[in-house]
Amino acid sequence: MTGVAGVDDAQAPEIRQVGVIGGGQLAWMMLGAAQKLGLELVLQTPLATDPAIANSLQAGLNEAVNAVLAPIADAEATARLAQQCQVITFENEFVDLPALRQLEVQGVCFRPRLSVLASLLDKHEQRQFLQSLDLPVPPFAAITPQDDPRSLGFEFPMVVKARRHGYDGQGTFILKDAVELEQFWQQFQQQELQAQNLQEQNLQAPELQAQEPNLNHRFMVEAFVPFERELAIMAARAETGEVALYPVIETQQKKQVCRWAIAPAPISPAIQTQVEAIATTLLASLEAVGIFGIELFLTAAGEVLVNEIAPRTHNSGHLTIEACSTSQFEQQLRAVAGLPLGDTALQTPAAVMVNLLGFETAHANYQDQRDRLGEIPGATVHWYGKAESKLGRKLGHVTVLLDHPNHAAAVAIAQQVEALWYPSL
Ligand code: ADP
Repeated sequence: MTGVAGVDDAQAPEIRQVGVIGGGQLAWMMLGAAQKLGLELVLQTPLATDPAIANSLQAGLNEAVNAVLAPIADAEATARLAQQCQVITFENEFVDLPALRQLEVQGVCFRPRLSVLASLLDKHEQRQFLQSLDLPVPPFAAITPQDDPRSLGFEFPMVVKARRHGYDGQGTFILKDAVELEQFWQQFQQQELQAQNLQEQNLQAPELQAQEPNLNHRFMVEAFVPFERELAIMAARAETGEVALYPVIETQQKKQVCRWAIAPAPISPAIQTQVEAIATTLLASLEAVGIFGIELFLTAAGEVLVNEIAPRTHNSGHLTIEACSTSQFEQQLRAVAGLPLGDTALQTPAAVMVNLLGFETAHANYQDQRDRLGEIPGATVHWYGKAESKLGRKLGHVTVLLDHPNHAAAVAIAQQVEALWYPSL
């Protein structure tokens, strides 16, 4: 047998087929890594037009990727997926955990295990779990429309978050005063009514049906953190307990959506050590197998607080494709397939990744902008091939490798990319 990087014939892994729940851009980027490792991916994703399937056809990757076409939360489809692979991992964690548990009991191998996901999927329970490990988090509480946040100990501005199914800032609301809070609840109750009407007409999407029906368990409130920077670290853990940490990355969000990421983050060695210790404690406590994205706040006083844990590859780690010898996608596959973890060190003095977010509703491939972005020295343009562009939708990203570890130069490149991409900048 050949083609499995880092493993000789005697150590060939038993795992040859890896099931992936999800078929978006993260699964698409995982396909390239699978090919490098000689692994086959089988995806569970709703549509043949989803990036991982549509792009693999276009790119002529071996042959068309194997897929079970079904919604992410369809556990019966996951049972079919399980028949085609030895291990199942996640690109998307919005699954129906109780239904998947029955599969795990029957012997289906999920990596990370479902008990790991169970601690993380609900943001409030995730916070409680982090607190139980003595890891630093912003003050938080569950909140209902009947609660006065002040009596719960929160002042404006405050942050209200949907406990489940939030992504790319959808479900995160920074509220500056009581009027905004009132508007928020009103809007939310209207949406609830619309959803109920849809459900009565039997039109609701299966993934929405899997949501918690009790409104009183849907939101949490937390203190607004006046952070100096946002940081992220990608961390992987193998079945053997080996942990591999990537360099700490700085991320910048606008309107709660990630615009760009820079490695290495401009932080002191003490902060670096603190972030690494948080990641190691977390993964060891979870006995997690796989890769995790950990997002953090760094305050002006040098306090590090954990914001969020993603039990999978993450937007913050995209630059590892060009900047490290093992990308986050390869590392996830290595961890879940029982291969030795790969080298995580930066192979370049610095790197910057900029998201290409949709700025209009259109059917366009933006070839001109992509060509111009590709002319930036050291740039690689990744295009996800989504059928339609919409406001805020992640359509692709650009990674630029730098010759010098110069943070100001990295920020200037992020601005240059944004100026070439967004028509209004
Ligand atoms: P998502 O799960 O959708 O990514 P997050 O909870 O990570 O949502 O929030 C998205 C962004 O909103 C964060 O990256 C940060 O910029 C901002 N944000 C979230 N929580 C807070 C907070 N407590 N204080 C200040 N800003 C916050």
